Amino acid sequence: AVDSQQCIRGRVLRVHGLLSIVAGEDGRTYRCAVRRLLKSLATEERHVVTCGDVVWLRPAPASGGDPNAPREGLIERVEPRHGLLTRASRGREHVVAANVDQAAIVLSLMQPELKPHLIDRYLAAAALGQLQPLILLNKVDLVPEPSVYQPLIGYYAQLGIPVLLTSATTGYGLEHLRQYLHQRVTVFAGQSGVGKSSLLNALLPDLHLPTRAVSAATEKGRHTTTYAQLLPLPDGGWVVDTPGVRQLQLWKIQREEVEGLFLEFRPFVPLCAFADCTHTHETGCAIQQAVARNRISPRRYHSYLGLFYDLPEDKW
Ligand code: GDP
Ligand code: ZN
Repeated sequence: AVDSQQCIRGRVLRVHGLLSIVAGEDGRTYRCAVRRLLKSLATEERHVVTCGDVVWLRPAPASGGDPNAPREGLIERVEPRHGLLTRASRGREHVVAANVDQAAIVLSLMQPELKPHLIDRYLAAAALGQLQPLILLNKVDLVPEPSVYQPLIGYYAQLGIPVLLTSATTGYGLEHLRQYLHQRVTVFAGQSGVGKSSLLNALLPDLHLPTRAVSAATEKGRHTTTYAQLLPLPDGGWVVDTPGVRQLQLWKIQREEVEGLFLEFRPFVPLCAFADCTHTHETGCAIQQAVARNRISPRRYHSYLGLFYDLPEDKW
């Protein structure tokens, strides 16, 4: 799109200091500085422009030469954001990316083994970040028995959350996955070894992220992007790439927020005897009664407790 002042709309792929790399809607790549006035307006933020921002840029006059070379431009405006993905590190919040729509929560069915409670942990994190969740059960090629995953799919489908079976190795489910990624900005999250890099490589033929064998699960020699970037998908849509985002600790969940992240608890909460019920030990707790009558899954209640007490993963 081009506005009345001959500015071009685009999406910020990455930011290097004061320089932003922008994919213009005209199909060109622009190396952009930010207009000084714009910078001084937003003193609160470390970077006025961040990865994922939708901006309007004024192209510099073409200097001849290679028509495919990145062009220069000046960012004149930043469109309002619909959310900011942040990561806490050393007690500070760091902005990772703006305008992220969706979290693809990747689990492996085997190697490493499926840990269903982790799904709930990631789902809570996604809800907190106001990201649309999508669950990917990867490595389906290793699992001959649908009884392993069928109940999980049914369960989350009831909560309205899509569950896709995928295999980065055989390509199974990737066509379906592409449909979910189309025209959205998606962040892939999940434990290491579940196949995130492999899935991204399969979706983005030019990417070549190093993957690793589960047995050699060390951080050494790992793909080490230190900044976030958006990777454009061939048929439209974007994937956020940063190792930090792949970690679970990205979203710190406050104790009082946990209850609201379990959608199926909502009808019962007003029925608890105490208005400030924590659903952990109280008498007259409607949540605990619903669990006892199997109207809330005991597994999900267990996940609730894990999040409420902020237990480390291995203590759930
Ligand atoms: P990441 O840490 O989540 O990025 O995981 P990787 O993409 O590095 O994958 C970890 C290991 O699992 C590698 O050895 C991959 O080859 C393997 N892997 C990834 N996806 C699949 C899959 O769908 N099927 C099988 N059998 N192996 C996979
Ligand atoms: Zn209660």
